[in-house]
Amino acid sequence: MAEPATTGALNEQQVLLSTLPPSRGQQRLALATILVLLAAFCATVPFAAVPVGYIREFIPAYAAAMFVISSITSALLFVQFSVVQSRALLAVSGGYLFSALITVPWALTFPDLFGATDMAGTTWGVLSRIWHLVFPLSVIGYTLLKDDEARTAWPRALSYFAVLLSAAGLLVAFDLVTGLGTTTSEPMPRGSPFSMLDRAQADWNALLFLLALFALALLWSRRRSVLDLWLMVVMCGLLIELCLITLVGLRYVVGWYAARVYFLVSSMLVLAVLLSETALLYARLARSVMAQRREREARLITMDVLSASIAHEMNQPLASIVTNADAASRWMARPTPDLDEVKATLEQIRNSAYRARDLIGSIRAMVKRDGRNRAPLDLNDLVREVLALTERELQRNRVSVEVELEEHLPLVNADRVQLQQVLVNLITNAIDAMAEKKWPRILRIESAAREPGGVLISVADTGKGIDPKIVDRIFNPLFTTKSNGMGMGLAICRSIIEGHDGRLQVSAGPEGGAVFQFVLPATVAR
Ligand code: ADP
Repeated sequence: MAEPATTGALNEQQVLLSTLPPSRGQQRLALATILVLLAAFCATVPFAAVPVGYIREFIPAYAAAMFVISSITSALLFVQFSVVQSRALLAVSGGYLFSALITVPWALTFPDLFGATDMAGTTWGVLSRIWHLVFPLSVIGYTLLKDDEARTAWPRALSYFAVLLSAAGLLVAFDLVTGLGTTTSEPMPRGSPFSMLDRAQADWNALLFLLALFALALLWSRRRSVLDLWLMVVMCGLLIELCLITLVGLRYVVGWYAARVYFLVSSMLVLAVLLSETALLYARLARSVMAQRREREARLITMDVLSASIAHEMNQPLASIVTNADAASRWMARPTPDLDEVKATLEQIRNSAYRARDLIGSIRAMVKRDGRNRAPLDLNDLVREVLALTERELQRNRVSVEVELEEHLPLVNADRVQLQQVLVNLITNAIDAMAEKKWPRILRIESAAREPGGVLISVADTGKGIDPKIVDRIFNPLFTTKSNGMGMGLAICRSIIEGHDGRLQVSAGPEGGAVFQFVLPATVAR
């Protein structure tokens, strides 16, 4: 049987004991429990008739333990019923509640002064039979109802009402039965409503044994859930109890005590397993909810980062369009409009618009981790292109540019627009860092072949440098120290470079400032 997933969403089948299929381990544990019970039974049989004597505390202690165990089990099952509103669960939880309630008059009417012989005619004997009759019947009811039941979606209030009604019904039955307690140790008067129960003990035991056996067989044939499995263990405990009682036919002998102890042990084990299973299911559910929440947050962060990166990437071409449009208006507004300049600026507007379009396409490719736009690329050409793109900006900020490009670089297989974007971001950051300094403002770009089979590009500035305290965080999305920064540039650069199987690093420049370097694998030798 496959273990349910521990992360991701769980469905109802995976969180309810009445529907959850048992794991291999649970099946083995149940089988081991049944075998241990059987072994104990076999070991008891030879000594079953050995007299032990009357132990005063036994019945009250046994009844108290059974009361606690049965009421907790019934509460556990009623809760399951209120969730799935299955009549089958109502039947078995009602059976447990009845078992819990009947232990009280059962203990009170124990005819301790009676001899060690037949108890069939006493109220206590009748209560024992009713108990052992109702419980397997409730299990049979559960088994018959559980499969063919089309889940009726009862309103919540109605399911509470059903729980209350069955509890009230059981209390009435309990009250009726306690009424018999007036004749504590006397045999049942003939003609009373329960006189039909007053049969020979052996007949009754045989009937109850068959009933429990039928319940067990039915459970076996329709077993599916954890609850089915452990109800089978209880039924085995009950069968062993009935067997021993029938075998000895006497009170205060080893078999008489052992029978009850075995049933108690099996009921206790079942409760322990149901409780631990419920706790485990709760933990699994909690983990599943946490995982779902994390997934949702991660998706929100990705959306956040994505929208921020689109805004960030579009800023540059949009700003250039606005600047050029202003410039064109100024050329037009002159007494003699300079149409050549207007034409050149319009050309630049057109180029920026194309660039914006390409950026959107490259962001989409990046999100889809799509390598379709990759082609063999000379990074020296790329450096020259980007310097042309940023020329105005560099001039405006009075930055002098030093370029040292190694000739005959190997080609890299890369997305041109994405790598342009990396260089534009690094150069823009360098301009920003130097804008805060008076002099010198030098941007130094180098390219070099790197062994084995890589190409290095380095962008160094003479700006304010990077505070060692924040150097670990500058590549994080949304980290910025600028009042108008978005903190996306370096995150995008790193994601693009790593998407190309490369590395992007930063170090301090020899005379201050920062040096950003990336290495890409050379795929095409020249
Ligand atoms: P943004 O430029 O919007 O702040 P980035 O991810 O590009 O976002 O940069 C993150 C931070 O890294 C910047 O706010 C700045 O503090 C630091 N940084 C980046 N490049 C440089 C540089 N060349 N010199 C100094 N600091 C830099």
